Amino acid sequence: MGTNTTYKKDVEQAIANPKLSEALHLFGDNYLIAREKAYEGLDFEAMRTELGDIKDIVRLNREELLAEFVKNAEAAGSKVFIAKDVHEANEYVINLAKEKNAKLIAKSKSMVSEEAHFNKALEAHGIRASETDLGEWILQLAGQRPSHLVMPAIHMFKEEVAELFSKEAGETLSPEIKSLVDYARVRLRQEYFDADIGLTGANFLIANTGGIGLVTNEGNARLCSTLPKVHVVFAGIHKLVRNMEDAIKITRLLPRNATGQLLTSYVTWIRGAVPCDGETKEQHIVLIDGGRSALYESPACRDALRCIQCGACANVCPVYQTVGGHVFGSTYISAIGVILTAFYEGLDKAKEITRACIGCRSCSAVCPSNIDLEEIILHLKEEVTKEYGMGVIKNVAFKAIMKNRGLFHNMVRAASKLQRPVTHKSRNESSDQRRIIRHLPMHFMNKDFTEWRDLPSIAPKSFRDMFDTIPQTLFNPDYKVGFFAGCGADFVYPEVGVSMIKVLNALNVEVVFPKGQNCCGIPALYSGDA
Ligand code: SF4
Ligand code: SF4
Repeated sequence: MGTNTTYKKDVEQAIANPKLSEALHLFGDNYLIAREKAYEGLDFEAMRTELGDIKDIVRLNREELLAEFVKNAEAAGSKVFIAKDVHEANEYVINLAKEKNAKLIAKSKSMVSEEAHFNKALEAHGIRASETDLGEWILQLAGQRPSHLVMPAIHMFKEEVAELFSKEAGETLSPEIKSLVDYARVRLRQEYFDADIGLTGANFLIANTGGIGLVTNEGNARLCSTLPKVHVVFAGIHKLVRNMEDAIKITRLLPRNATGQLLTSYVTWIRGAVPCDGETKEQHIVLIDGGRSALYESPACRDALRCIQCGACANVCPVYQTVGGHVFGSTYISAIGVILTAFYEGLDKAKEITRACIGCRSCSAVCPSNIDLEEIILHLKEEVTKEYGMGVIKNVAFKAIMKNRGLFHNMVRAASKLQRPVTHKSRNESSDQRRIIRHLPMHFMNKDFTEWRDLPSIAPKSFRDMFDTIPQTLFNPDYKVGFFAGCGADFVYPEVGVSMIKVLNALNVEVVFPKGQNCCGIPALYSGDA
């Protein structure tokens, strides 16, 4: 089965489960309210510009800052290993575990360890990695991967979690959130004491101290970094910051943007090998490149490494809200996932999710790192089209037909008459007139267009054909405005244009419709044809 077919099946399955989509939409709405409240009285635009600048300074000085971090971390007693890829990173921890005769590693949440398929790599050597973040533990029991950067098990309902925990407990547990959390707390607590090694990620690698910063809500990262005798930090090199001041500035944005909190429950700063139970703990910091240097070198995409992993670009994304993170992403999900998948796993792995983006720009609007995610995805669409082509139908449509205004408009008019046998009355539309196309005959067009979505039919009369008959009885208008309708309002939803004229006329504004206008080019642009 090809990637394309698999992806479409995943989309179909996700759409067939409206419960998940409803929950994600509701979550997205509530998230926006909480986020707005959290930023009350603050200048988000100024804050994110500053964050972007902080990250750009790191990019420009990354070699010096990395060397400074290593020097200071080693001076504080830490051992630092720079891994060129995730395999080297895994190997380092496996060798360390063997050297310590370690059988159990207690882990807190770390996306880079997901990227490294860390648990699986360790299992192959007889070492068990135990997830201690509640969401990650749920997924470990379910044998699934995260579907969100901050809330990895957001796609699971409490009844499903109760079923998993019941199996683990050997007794039926009620699907009540508090009792499920209580069970997890008791069940996981012993793991910290039994673990030979604790592994955490790092939100910050602070160059001028050699310390790390962790921003969490569950406290498990603190236990993982404190109780076992050996602490391993697993982090991407892009987590570098110059100093504590920069880290604190980022900490003002991260919780607000991630969960609408002013501050997370735990913010932990650790520097070096700390005393533990009368002995000195070992701290090993594994810094992973894994494609980040290549991404830094891409002028069109490098801003993606400003990401502080707040997850907001998923929370607001209509595609994510419709199909969830297992479909719209890979290790990393949603808008940032599209970009990182292309760089860390290859363009081939990212091509379907790149095309899935509808270009609404919601992600760019909420990103606290000032990343224009949509612009980068648009660039990747071009790359995908260059590499894999656009398909014959789109090529002919965009290059031969839509560029030629007369031909395009005549074809649309003809299609509005010929479409009748393939249109149906819409189930959702209040208007009696609205019809949709559910199946196109193969010889007309690629069936992919309508196989898993409905298309609106072309209106019987276009806006341009009705414009001259719309009365505008204004004697002395305050303004005269030109209306660019776009293909949607011109050929599919002319009633939108008619209503707009009514509104503008009521404000004493006359509307002019230049008939020479043509398609704006968005369909071609979003198909990667720049
Ligand atoms: S621009 Fe694309 S990735 Fe961003 S929110 Fe919209 S659909 Fe999602
Ligand atoms: S890209 Fe921006 S919005 Fe998305 S997770 Fe990263 S920082 Fe958050």
